[in-house]
Amino acid sequence: MLRRSELAIAGIVDESNDTKTFRLTAPESGLPQFQPGQFYALEVPGPDGAWIRRSYSVASSPLERRWLDFTIKKVEGGAATTALFERLRPGDRLRATGPFGEFVLDAARPAIFVTGGVGVTPILSMLRYLDATSSALPVCLLYANRTGADVLFEEELRAMAARRANFEFHFSLTRATEADRARWRGRSGRFDAATIQQICRGMSDRVAYLCGPIPMMEESGKALLSLGLAAKDIRTEAFVGVSPTFGG
Ligand SMILES: Cc1cc2nc3c(=O)[nH]c(=O)nc-3n(C[C@H](O)[C@H](O)[C@H](O)COP(=O)(O)OP(=O)(O)OC[C@H]3O[C@@H](n4cnc5c(N)ncnc54)[C@H](O)[C@@H]3O)c2cc1C
Repeated sequence: MLRRSELAIAGIVDESNDTKTFRLTAPESGLPQFQPGQFYALEVPGPDGAWIRRSYSVASSPLERRWLDFTIKKVEGGAATTALFERLRPGDRLRATGPFGEFVLDAARPAIFVTGGVGVTPILSMLRYLDATSSALPVCLLYANRTGADVLFEEELRAMAARRANFEFHFSLTRATEADRARWRGRSGRFDAATIQQICRGMSDRVAYLCGPIPMMEESGKALLSLGLAAKDIRTEAFVGVSPTFGG
């Protein structure tokens, strides 16, 4: 049910050089309920006292009832992210309205997740939910980042995959550095149509969840359609611009 909540910042965690997790609690009202993959309209106090309203996907599992985690990437010159990164401190208040969105997990159907950068947040909520419920659902995660330093939650995702026999994952770096080349245990390059067709062959009965740059979602969605996934089973979420649809 849609509702407006007063939230307080309980902690701020550095995830990479430009991304932080804001851990929010609900001191008065209790945490709002949501489905894995949904987002809230957060209102952040701006420098002039006006509230700045932006959408953020919840990164934590809905089964975590102590707090909501939002993992947020700084946008240069961005109004909300400048306030969040440079002015807000633990104890400060935010407002949240929601939950919104139909980019939600179908926990009864095997899944393919294709994501890039901070687009992993709604998918992380889904994966954390599946992990917390010890789900045996087969999942395949394709997660692209520019460099190794940009990969969010790498250790947690590798640990999840190690715990679950039916969790297949493929990390890829599109602009690997020298340091990455020395240690990286994943792929290189974009998840282009040929790579997706190779990795996801035989997964045509699955639901696909795409969240990342629009060209990535368009290319991967078309590749999945060519493998036989139903258009209605390809779900998308865009952080900037309009989510592509595939005729479903
Ligand atoms: C459903 C939904 C869920 C989202 N979830 C998350 C999330 O979990 N984590 C997260 O970090 N962000 C998320 N976003 C993006 C978020 O809502 C903001 O757009 C983003 O944080 C920038 O806000 P800002 O006020 O700092 O920048 P603004 O002041 O709005 O924008 C400043 C400039 O940056 C450009 N810009 C805006 N957003 C981006 C961007 N993401 N990348 C590059 N340029 C941009 C604008 O066009 C503008 O030119 C989500 C967006 C949607 C629609």
